[in-house]
Amino acid sequence: MPPSSEPAEALAARLASVDARIAEATAAAGRDPSDVTRIVVTKFHPAALVEGLYALGVRDVGENRQQEFSAKVDAVGPREGLRWHFIGQAQTNKARAIRSAASVVHSVDRARLADALEAAGSPDSPILDVLLQVNLTDDPGRGGTTGDDLESLAAHVAGLPTLRVRGIMAVAALDVPPARAFERLPELSATVRRVIPEASWISAGMTADFAEAIAAGATHLRIGSAITGPRPERG
Ligand SMILES: *Cc1c(COP(=O)(O)O)cnc(C)c1O
Repeated sequence: MPPSSEPAEALAARLASVDARIAEATAAAGRDPSDVTRIVVTKFHPAALVEGLYALGVRDVGENRQQEFSAKVDAVGPREGLRWHFIGQAQTNKARAIRSAASVVHSVDRARLADALEAAGSPDSPILDVLLQVNLTDDPGRGGTTGDDLESLAAHVAGLPTLRVRGIMAVAALDVPPARAFERLPELSATVRRVIPEASWISAGMTADFAEAIAAGATHLRIGSAITGPRPERG
């Protein structure tokens, strides 16, 4: 049965349970709960799920594929206060579609993509919030920019007038314990803040590792299946 037809209570219960775990992890880390934003990742789920989440008070949702993202934003339509986060790999030729639908783009990992997002704006478009995606490993094949390139990427994007760098985004590697994977976050965040002092956001933490991400300083959690239930098979 598709998740959209399950009782709304089940969704509400999972959301409440995750929020309780977030509160616990935040308290354990001695952090202020208002410093942590929970983004619900709705990829592969129908637009109706976003509507169900909105009815439960969710205002931040995330998607990782441009086509699905654009279609879902259209299907849901304008909603007061709803922010769409684009969290997936972005192709430069999709920059216009992404920019027109996103409040925040988490996955800026190269200057060319930032330039394409900048060019997709018009003089009257709102400023686009972006995060610089960082690679937490020594494997250059993984997504995100590495330590050495991060400072120059930050400087480049800081020079683009319609983009605002808010911080960094990271996905933990699966083959190391999450706490260890996130060890580099403070240093990478500091690298960006040397260039853009107010860029304090750290987008990290998913279903399997959000407590560790909170302990490591994450300000934006991207949580999917723990809240939405298992993702439907991709057709
Ligand atoms: C799917 C996805 C998530 C959420 O994953 P869950 O394990 O379902 O919480 C977070 N971040 C990115 C970049 C994703 O693609």
